[in-house]
Amino acid sequence: MPELPEVETAVRALREPLLARTILTAHFPEPPRRMINLPADRFAACISGAPIRGLSRRAKYLIFDLGTQCLIVHLKMTGHLYVLPSEQADPMDRWLRVRFPLDNGTELRFSDARRFGRIYLAERPEAILPPLGPEPLDAAFTLDAFIARLHKRKGALKRLLLDQAFIAGIGNIYADEALHIAKLHPLQRAERLSDAEGERLYHAIRQALGEGIARMGASIGWYRQPDGRRGEAQHYLRAYRTRGDSRPCPVCGTPICTIRVGQRSTHFCPSCQPAPSD
Ligand SMILES: [Zn+2]
Repeated sequence: MPELPEVETAVRALREPLLARTILTAHFPEPPRRMINLPADRFAACISGAPIRGLSRRAKYLIFDLGTQCLIVHLKMTGHLYVLPSEQADPMDRWLRVRFPLDNGTELRFSDARRFGRIYLAERPEAILPPLGPEPLDAAFTLDAFIARLHKRKGALKRLLLDQAFIAGIGNIYADEALHIAKLHPLQRAERLSDAEGERLYHAIRQALGEGIARMGASIGWYRQPDGRRGEAQHYLRAYRTRGDSRPCPVCGTPICTIRVGQRSTHFCPSCQPAPSD
């Protein structure tokens, strides 16, 4: 599933073709059912003539500022947003779920093979978004703020990093990567972390996400950049592994271990990330 770096990459790429454009309407090739939060005809009527004033990201959500309302997109597993001239076909059109024609002859399209993606129209993002923790790359998210949040929490670090109300935007890939960089075991308990370990984790989270953005995201599974190119981050993963990928730890050469933590497959180096002592 796309995480913060993948969604941020999409947002940055989509700004240029979308900012200052006007959405003419919304066309659904098939009944959208649960994909949108309004009846299809009402959704199309509400978005007709809407100016795209801004495009930003919160956690794993794309947020289009349409002036008096906002369009919020969650890509989930296989969602993909792309902009093309209206007459131009694309391989991703096979799973096309909605087209938004724009005022310059192009259109924003959303394809989604698995149909888990969600698109919401609302007056304000807060009406739709679940409780979300701080943005880990924001300047306001300081080491002191992170340590203070950490002190209030208990339980395995892997689980905590995946909790969007604790910290926003991290999923399975970047949680495993951050813990490897920090040399912390995924089952290490938050309440047993020293401040020095907490500081390592803080910097590791920002490093893992920052590198992911610099490499245009990790094309594991379906994720592609809006122009269809793959990201590069999958080639540099330290600990996260897909099935059949037996690359050892790039730091020490030890085979990577896989365990389950809270239903999620979790990957770590048993040498660089030793098990907690208790
Ligand atoms: Zn190692």
